[in-house]
Amino acid sequence: MDYYKPEQLEQWDKQYVWHPFTQMRQWQKEKPLIIAKGEGSYLYDLEGNKYLDGISSLWVTVHGHRKKEINRAIIEQLDQLAHSTLLGQANIPSTLLARKLVEITPEGLNKVFYSESGSTAVEIGLKIAYQYWQQRGEEKYKTKRKFVSLANAYHGDTIGSVSVGGINLFHKIFAGLLFETVNAPSPYCYRCPLHLNRESCTMDCVREMESLLADHHHEIAGVVIEPLVQGAAGMLVAPEGYLAGVRELCTRFDVLLIADEVAVGFGRTGKMFACAHENVKPDIMCLAKGITGGYLPLAATMVTDEIYQAFLGEIDECRTFYHGHTYTGNPVACAAALANLELFARDQLIAGLQEKIAFFSADLKRFMELQHVGDVRQKGLMAGIEIVGNKAAKEPFAIKYNIPHRIVLEARKNGLIIRPLDNVIVLMPILSMSLAELKRLLDITYAAIRKVTEEEAL
Ligand SMILES: *Cc1c(COP(=O)(O)O)cnc(C)c1O
Repeated sequence: MDYYKPEQLEQWDKQYVWHPFTQMRQWQKEKPLIIAKGEGSYLYDLEGNKYLDGISSLWVTVHGHRKKEINRAIIEQLDQLAHSTLLGQANIPSTLLARKLVEITPEGLNKVFYSESGSTAVEIGLKIAYQYWQQRGEEKYKTKRKFVSLANAYHGDTIGSVSVGGINLFHKIFAGLLFETVNAPSPYCYRCPLHLNRESCTMDCVREMESLLADHHHEIAGVVIEPLVQGAAGMLVAPEGYLAGVRELCTRFDVLLIADEVAVGFGRTGKMFACAHENVKPDIMCLAKGITGGYLPLAATMVTDEIYQAFLGEIDECRTFYHGHTYTGNPVACAAALANLELFARDQLIAGLQEKIAFFSADLKRFMELQHVGDVRQKGLMAGIEIVGNKAAKEPFAIKYNIPHRIVLEARKNGLIIRPLDNVIVLMPILSMSLAELKRLLDITYAAIRKVTEEEAL
């Protein structure tokens, strides 16, 4: 590529690019971070400054940046074929990857439908669930047209996935565009009155879902859930047993369980999939983010044979699933995913994670000592540190002080990239990070929170 001066690129970016989830007025005022290179756990900007990647490049990087085995797999695939459609044709990597995904995901998920993002993986899950009940045959199932969604949920940014979402800040403005759902209270929220007693919480939350399904099951196609952790909500962790409880209820009430493992899948919680912590076998599972090790856009929606069967028929019965994105099953992305999964096995990544998780979890405890930390939530190698103005009342700082963003900038000065979700500082270390790198990530974050919230003037 030609060489461009940093100032030139900065100017063009500000002139031409609209960044996602970014207030562009603020962006225009600041010096943008332009990443030019990656290596292992680090990213480098145009001027060669080095940063620890504390968010796994938005929750996707698994074995580090520029992993030679994944690079090689991509190059080898490029020498064969960059793209060919999956509509009415097949290709080699998408076939091999589907077989591998069926092998490693919970039992019963035997069919793979590809797409390119977490949002589409969920969107596809919803459409499959909806069409499934319409085509099951029995008249009584035809009324199953709605979904149960949880408060605080995040399933992506397309209209279907926003419909089953519950984050006011992102979703409220689109209310008029969304389909109706049946809302369940979030058992993940430590602020919910049921959580005051953590012991009885699981039972109470499952009971809430039970009464909701008892009343509505005849109109419910599926329950959509982020297993164990609601990520975008600010790393809200579910009480133990809740997922298994919901699974049991879905079976009892003839409702599909749609597990959105986009954030928690591929080792993030310490097992390959979060559902495995509670031995849960969902009917539909959505995968994306970590699937290619953080290399290329790819997603998969996995379903059971029972669901798949309902779409079989003669041509004139029109039972086909009429859905497919142009780049579905892209061979280069699938080759990257295959290499990613091979590395999981070769490096015994999941086994190696346990020591890191124990360290991460223990070291996070000290954050609670900080004057302006209201809560610390963690599962596996994902954590949320809630920044509050008033610790006792757990009130956030006024938005205008822009405290979370200032913490991020302070961390950046010290060589760490992190990102906030509202008033929560998110830590998503790359799974391959060493203990020393994890320690550095925690130390810089701790110092940045203390400096901005305790030493700087508002
Ligand atoms: C990120 C995320 C999505 C959306 O994935 P995209 O690839 O950004 O569309 C969906 N569900 C969950 C749980 C996520 O964390």
